[in-house]
Amino acid sequence: MSKHICGNCSKQIGFQQTIKGKWMPVDLPRVNYYPDSNGRDTILNDRGEIVKGWIGDTADSKTLKGHKPHFVSCNGYKKDHPDKDNLKAKKQISMFEETDEQKNMKPHTLRLTDHDTVSEIVNKMSDGHAGCYDFLKQLVIKSKYGGTHGGVKHVYLLDELGIYGARAYIFWNDICTRNINEVELVLANIIAGEVSVAEIHMHIDSGYASPLQHLSTFEELGLKPS
Ligand SMILES: [Zn+2]
Repeated sequence: MSKHICGNCSKQIGFQQTIKGKWMPVDLPRVNYYPDSNGRDTILNDRGEIVKGWIGDTADSKTLKGHKPHFVSCNGYKKDHPDKDNLKAKKQISMFEETDEQKNMKPHTLRLTDHDTVSEIVNKMSDGHAGCYDFLKQLVIKSKYGGTHGGVKHVYLLDELGIYGARAYIFWNDICTRNINEVELVLANIIAGEVSVAEIHMHIDSGYASPLQHLSTFEELGLKPS
């Protein structure tokens, strides 16, 4: 699982694919849990199912492994949506259980490895699409958010999100209006759980992708340019 920094609380988080193909931001590291439909905790298990149980280390043979959805524990998120039962977090998690918008999010195989050079990652992700190649090159060079090698991290994130080649070009051209700043803002919103990956794919598939209207700003996400 590759690691990212949460735009809300700056903690290191991971993304795990749900059984429906969506990528959910999750806490690191993996936890043990005891499955129980009446359990207090929500867990994304290793099969990508969102289940109930009790997180903790037990010697019981029923103990399984999974990840805690980051929406529940994110401090920045809690601060923005204060309520006792964390209803907004529950709603976010339930978005990952929806079935109707899943068609576009089939599980895919990652293209990039940890050993790729920068030119390899740009080549692999471009799929021979010249416009996409130009986009990714600019992203690597001009990224301001995401720290050292932020642009390269962004390309790895696009790999996890399944946005390649012609699709990445539509993302760049239509959703982000050929603006690297906007690309970084949309990606930061995805990491923070403010925008779902499915929404991006739906925009791309719709044939009339347009800029997103409800993005949180870098400031609201607690991000500063480096
Ligand atoms: Zn967070």
